[in-house]
Amino acid sequence: MADVMSSEKRSAVMSNIRGKDTRPEIEVRRALWHNGFRYRLHAKELPGRPDIVLPRWKASIFVHGCFWHRHEGCSLFQLPATRPEFWDAKLSANNARGNRAVRALADAGWRVLVVWECALKLDTSSTTRRVIAWVRSQDRCSELLRVGARVRRNSMTLTSKGPIPHYRGVLHTAEVSFVGIVGPVRAPA
Ligand SMILES: [Zn+2]
Repeated sequence: MADVMSSEKRSAVMSNIRGKDTRPEIEVRRALWHNGFRYRLHAKELPGRPDIVLPRWKASIFVHGCFWHRHEGCSLFQLPATRPEFWDAKLSANNARGNRAVRALADAGWRVLVVWECALKLDTSSTTRRVIAWVRSQDRCSELLRVGARVRRNSMTLTSKGPIPHYRGVLHTAEVSFVGIVGPVRAPA
């Protein structure tokens, strides 16, 4: 099959999807800025280089692309049909790295919010309002994601393996899989 994209175009598209300064990230930054919040970007000295850091609020924010961070169960995530083993390993590693970063930041006393691309795509203004509410809150670690036709906030319980969101239904992360959980989940001893 012919490659319809030139290699420059392709690399521009790829860097746009996975790099920093992605569109969803810029939407979150813009909302914070317009509401008077000041922040740092891609703090190199912090675990996982959070996309947005608000030192005054002891808050760090990741804006995750659902494909690149393997957002399991999300309509924006699907394993590519070509070279599925390669992508499976690569995207699972990204997901696990994200979990480790949340854990390490929390251990260092930071609050962490993971904003998934699917939430921003579904309802940008509702999602950014929730981001701002979270920054002002005392909430420790949470994620914003799309559940059906709504944006939902899940609190995350931290385990030795990483963050586990509160979730009702079926939950998959890179490391564990639970069914029918209600309320906080704790890792088996
Ligand atoms: Zn998603």
